[in-house]
Amino acid sequence: MNKIRCIGILTSGGDAPGMNAAIRAVTRSAIYNGMKVKGIYRGYKGLITGEIEEFQTQHVSNIIQRGGTILKTARCMEFKTPEGRKLAYDRLVEEGIDALITIGGDGTLTGARLFAQEFNIPIIGLPGTIDNDLYGTDLTIGYDTALNTIMECVDKIRDTATSHDRLFFIEVMGRDAGFLAMNGAIASGAEAAIIPEISLAEEQLSDMIENGFRKSKNSSIVLVAESEVTGGAMGVAERVKNEYPQFDVRVSILGHLQRGGSPSAQDRILATRMGIATVEALLEDQRNVMIGIQNDQIVYVPISKAIKNDKPINQDLLHTLRISSI
Ligand code: ADP
Repeated sequence: MNKIRCIGILTSGGDAPGMNAAIRAVTRSAIYNGMKVKGIYRGYKGLITGEIEEFQTQHVSNIIQRGGTILKTARCMEFKTPEGRKLAYDRLVEEGIDALITIGGDGTLTGARLFAQEFNIPIIGLPGTIDNDLYGTDLTIGYDTALNTIMECVDKIRDTATSHDRLFFIEVMGRDAGFLAMNGAIASGAEAAIIPEISLAEEQLSDMIENGFRKSKNSSIVLVAESEVTGGAMGVAERVKNEYPQFDVRVSILGHLQRGGSPSAQDRILATRMGIATVEALLEDQRNVMIGIQNDQIVYVPISKAIKNDKPINQDLLHTLRISSI
């Protein structure tokens, strides 16, 4: 295989805290290993339009602590078409980029896989999403920070819930995955989590309310993952209000504040380890893998597996939440 001389790096899809730490690590690791590195702005969009700049080590100085992504991110419909991907490939050739590092979630990796297949270009993916929903890695970049943000928000809402004897439904992100809701509930001492992976029958909801809110507690907090399956916090609250009109029910939707903020130590370390691993993977002739972490060890996960397989939620967490919230 040809020696890789220049790598391109982009962030795509939803931003996540720790993406900057990953950009920094990839850049410095590439330079350390004698490669050129080019930053591609606005994800696949910038790859098509040519918003590309060569990075030196100082381009990534003073960014490890910053949320968001200095490379910006964008959603790019054109990249979903073969014509769009051909334009992107032409741009890579023009720029002399012979391997690509993509940081993002499921969509970003899906695009990367197609691109790699069509043009035979080595691509290494980094899991950058607050949802933690990629198969093959225990953690994704941004998840820990978002979890901490949720915990801090719920702590604050709890003051009001307690003062007013209210039942609060708090909606957190995670369209198809309940990791934030489930672990957020455990960390913040909430009574329950309603997540898309586990369909909650109406009786179970009633049971939870009868046994928790009514019997032993004056206030209660339930975390709900935003999802068509759960109906979101609004949907759940409506159902509860109809059945228990005597309860003082409130909804809070945490929304985009969950994505922002300075990354936690864990996310900075994870992003740095994973970022350095991308370049090492290329040096080992790996291609079309996502860097993952399992039991604190860096692993290579075929991108096809990371995007196709569902990552199951640990059933032990349910048990933990149930017992710790009686
Ligand atoms: P995330 O990476 O956070 O899941 P998106 O789903 O928005 O975010 O995907 C980010 C970008 O990845 C899209 O705007 C598009 O450019 C590219 N992408 C997503 N799905 C595909 C696909 N099926 N084929 C090609 N490119 C895709």
